[in-house]
Amino acid sequence: MDRGRLAELIESRRQEILASVPTREGEQFLKEMTELTQALPVWGDFDGWWYLRSVLTVVVHRETDDLKYDLDHLEVENVQAKRIFVHAMAARKFPELAELKPERPPDAVDCDQDHKALEKLRELGYNFECHCAGLGWQTR
Ligand SMILES: [Zn+2]
Repeated sequence: MDRGRLAELIESRRQEILASVPTREGEQFLKEMTELTQALPVWGDFDGWWYLRSVLTVVVHRETDDLKYDLDHLEVENVQAKRIFVHAMAARKFPELAELKPERPPDAVDCDQDHKALEKLRELGYNFECHCAGLGWQTR
């Protein structure tokens, strides 16, 4: 993995978002978060919003009752499974970052979810993602 090159690609994707003109719901929020966090927004769900700050650093606005989307509430994500998830999602969403796709560690176990059922839900327009991010495995 060429970290310097990947860092450039992450920054280039950030600049693309910053230069974009939001047209759909949520895009303005993503643009503002791209500016505020100095990071690349990768994934959001009911638990929070995750960003890539650099090739190896994942930061999160963890959803809480008093969550404010500011720098004070931005934490480094230390949960390994979540870091793997964010890298896998970044590799999928941004084709130029495909190298970020995590390699299966020896102690990983096969994912226990029904990916075909999740795919059907996505086809119906639901924004579901498996906790393995489609990798087919998960860490304990
Ligand atoms: Zn899965």
